[in-house]
Amino acid sequence: MAQRTFSIIKPDAVRNGATGAILAEIDKAGFQIVAIKKQSISKQQAEGFYYVHRERPFFDALTTFMSSGPLVLMVLGKENAIADLRKLMGATNPANAEEGTIRKKFAASIQENAIHGSDGEETAAFEIGYWFAGYELI
Ligand code: GDP
Repeated sequence: MAQRTFSIIKPDAVRNGATGAILAEIDKAGFQIVAIKKQSISKQQAEGFYYVHRERPFFDALTTFMSSGPLVLMVLGKENAIADLRKLMGATNPANAEEGTIRKKFAASIQENAIHGSDGEETAAFEIGYWFAGYELI
């Protein structure tokens, strides 16, 4: 069975009108969209999602940004989905991201960097379960 990963088109990219273009990149790279929903999230929901970063100096700014407007939550399926999405995203800081990556094309700063993707199997399982119910993942 294909591997599943969790991804977010972040509020900066949605605000900039890049949602369709980013979905096209994801599609072109061979990912199946298992589930997708556009919504706004609360600061508290963002804090729970980024709980592992709670001690980082940018935690408050990050969770404020993530709750600043609509975003797109997705579960993506593909062989090697977790690593392949990380490659397609590019480095956290768009200044260091390789040509052709989503962050190189669409991100403006280390914080407002257009897309999230799970960084490992355990993280993917936690993140999928945080945002999606089992019945949404058919
Ligand atoms: P990712 O796995 O590439 O998304 O990066 P991390 O897990 O290290 O960080 C999570 C998110 O926190 C990043 O995608 C950024 O939105 C934000 N972030 C990471 N490092 C910094 C930083 O140094 N400053 C700020 N303001 N935000 C950061």
